[in-house]
Amino acid sequence: ALREEIRQWSGPAQTSDGHAVQLLANVQDGNAARKASLSLAEGVGLFRTELCFLTAQTEPSVNEQAKIYGEVFEAFSGKKVVVRTLDAGSDKPVPFANHGEEENPALGVRGIRLGWTNPGLVDRQLDAIAQAAEDNGVTEAWVMAPMIATVDEAYEFAQKCRERDLKPGIMVEVPAVAMLPEKFLEEVEFFSIGTNDLTQYTMAADRMGSALAQLTDPWQPGVLRLIANTAAAGQKMGKPVGVCGEAAADPLLACILIGLGITSLSMATGAIPGVGVQLGKVTLEQCKDAAAQVIDARNSRDAKELAAKLLG
Ligand code: PEP
Ligand code: MG
Repeated sequence: ALREEIRQWSGPAQTSDGHAVQLLANVQDGNAARKASLSLAEGVGLFRTELCFLTAQTEPSVNEQAKIYGEVFEAFSGKKVVVRTLDAGSDKPVPFANHGEEENPALGVRGIRLGWTNPGLVDRQLDAIAQAAEDNGVTEAWVMAPMIATVDEAYEFAQKCRERDLKPGIMVEVPAVAMLPEKFLEEVEFFSIGTNDLTQYTMAADRMGSALAQLTDPWQPGVLRLIANTAAAGQKMGKPVGVCGEAAADPLLACILIGLGITSLSMATGAIPGVGVQLGKVTLEQCKDAAAQVIDARNSRDAKELAAKLLG
């Protein structure tokens, strides 16, 4: 029966009492974006640009990059598209990004840090995104940086975006950001929480290691607390805070996230209807109440059981 409900779901997502929830797609190129545009995704919440270049031996020119990014803007013309600058390194090495040999690449020069070893890389990518936005008549291009860890990094990135008329944001995936979100939100216009890495770094457990699956679980109360802290700052300061990690695709956790004040959820396109159906079964008040109880759970299993009892 649930399967049939999911098949027939027609969006847009809202709770049973009419609180709208923006459901967005995670995409990696023009093809994925065109497919997603035929789904009920209201936009793109995470365009993983590094996945366009996993085999590129040399850095594509600004024009070449603009053409690639433009395909995603074109597929979602008039809709929200959040482009993430290169998150190369660790599990996603990009040949032209000059990754050095590192003992612990997940804790190494990855994401925004690649700008340190590749002068001009971030600027050229932002030039390309700005060009793609202009070519496609996009008046508000949301751009975010991965792996931001300090307020100075956020400030510098935001400056570069504003110079190009791009709307600056950052991913929240390093616990240091989730611990003092207000300081970072003073510098940027929006947050997107990457729960995959936020969980990895909070629990000190490699997201690639299947033996650690119990730890790399966004239902861990420590992770939920950091998400709650981040969402509360967004509400206080009136700035959007989305979630774009796997957590957003878990229907029960999606309700908890909305209860915590998260404003949009971005996920694999196929997960959208399942989340939409679950949100439609609960009120915003129920989500808030469940969220308040779940962040007090003593372990991830209790958190899940409690959510299922209160929202299922
Ligand atoms: C995340 O870390 O949750 C995220 C969305 O980014 P990625 O999975 O690409 O590292
Ligand atoms: Mg990440």
